[in-house]
Amino acid sequence: MLQIYNTLSRQKEYFRPLHEGHVGMYVCGPTVYGDAHLGHARPAITFDLLYRYLLHLGYKVRYVRNITDVGHLEHDADEGEDKIAKKARLEQLEPMEVAQYYTNRYHRDMEALNVLPPSIEPHASGHIIEQIAFVQRILDHGYAYISNGSVYMDVEKYAKDFPYGKLSGRNLNDIVTETRELDGQDEKKHSYDFALWKKAAPEHIMHWPSPWSEGFPGWHMECSTMGTKYLGEEFDIHGGGMDLMFPHHEAEIAQSCAALGHDTVHYWMHNNMITIAGKKMGKSYNNFITLEQFFKGEHHLLTKPFSPMTIRFFILMAHYRSTVDFSSEALEAAEKGFARLQEAYTRLMRLTPSAESTIEIGNLRQHCEEAMEDDLNSPIVIAHLFESAKAINTVADGKGTISKEDLAELQDVWKTFVVDILGLRMDDSTEGGSNEAYKAAVDLLLNIRLDAKRNKDWATSDRIRNSLTDLGFTIKDTKDGFEWTL
Ligand code: ZN
Repeated sequence: MLQIYNTLSRQKEYFRPLHEGHVGMYVCGPTVYGDAHLGHARPAITFDLLYRYLLHLGYKVRYVRNITDVGHLEHDADEGEDKIAKKARLEQLEPMEVAQYYTNRYHRDMEALNVLPPSIEPHASGHIIEQIAFVQRILDHGYAYISNGSVYMDVEKYAKDFPYGKLSGRNLNDIVTETRELDGQDEKKHSYDFALWKKAAPEHIMHWPSPWSEGFPGWHMECSTMGTKYLGEEFDIHGGGMDLMFPHHEAEIAQSCAALGHDTVHYWMHNNMITIAGKKMGKSYNNFITLEQFFKGEHHLLTKPFSPMTIRFFILMAHYRSTVDFSSEALEAAEKGFARLQEAYTRLMRLTPSAESTIEIGNLRQHCEEAMEDDLNSPIVIAHLFESAKAINTVADGKGTISKEDLAELQDVWKTFVVDILGLRMDDSTEGGSNEAYKAAVDLLLNIRLDAKRNKDWATSDRIRNSLTDLGFTIKDTKDGFEWTL
């Protein structure tokens, strides 16, 4: 039975869904004002692993992952301007154009990492009416106050009735000392009060009408609102990166309790953070590497490009609650490990069975299941697969045999865990021969180009060469013909 670590209780708990056979799961998605980087890849892959495992267990999962496309002052108080609006102003675009552009690019990167799309991907900007209604409920219950057109959570009042800080293990005194002097401080009763609705400054270009002012919702409001809208007033799992635990998730709990009178989430799950060469990722360290830069190898900290599957494999090699430190060396090691796994997979799919097995396939399925049930222990799953690879290689090298039943079982376990659950794309040239077909097609095009050149048909020759180059092929003319790589 699946056990997951609940941040709220600080222990592993058996997962029991609220409604039999169904799981409601909410994960905080990206703020779309820039390209996705490693900090986006880790929660996306962590909760993709959970999503895939829940599906494997036969649950019907409603997976909601939001898009934050409304500015939140909390995050960018230093600059006093919402980041999407700032980008829009600098690049002379509509704010929604900026948000859409980066949403598209986020989707492209997630697709490359083989992260399954969520069941619902609500946008904060599309749920302003619901957010206003949510703020109103908190006001009606007396846990918020209006000040100069903005609405703030009355944290002190709330903390008298509900435990504020229970998720991150903080108390109000800790929070007072941690709170930076932020914008709107003079409007608030206490520094730790947070905005539920913010009156827009005249230069602020993203704003909506509300009963209190022309303005925009506080950042935390969208997740309380959209989580309960799509998953109900109580739902199973809420996930996100550890950096979101405070203030974001703590504020979400407070908002939900203040509006509904009770907590909404049963299991809070948080993935740990990624460091780069031992340092926190951040602009000030100049180590902010986008996923695209990883895929293309275009960053001074990278020795070469790394494929999306290498990045995915590297993230899965660590348990999601451990920190991960990225370096080019560590990625090169992961790349080699992934190549070995892929090679074993390909060899396994090509094996021919014998009358009986001389190798021990062990209880691989059970071992992998046990590892996954133990709070999604992907590194242990990978270790079991590598152990199994030894037996596969023994047979493939002709030093052992495998029976028809054992082979079928092994192939099914590998497909299930490697492809379906870990979500690692295998280069499947054994199935359908798509790889061979594609190579033959490129050769065919280049042979047509060769003929065109002999006939001095430069237009056709250039067209083929340029088109293939645009697609990412490198073409080299040789004495006897051509060579190409992708
Ligand atoms: Zn959130």
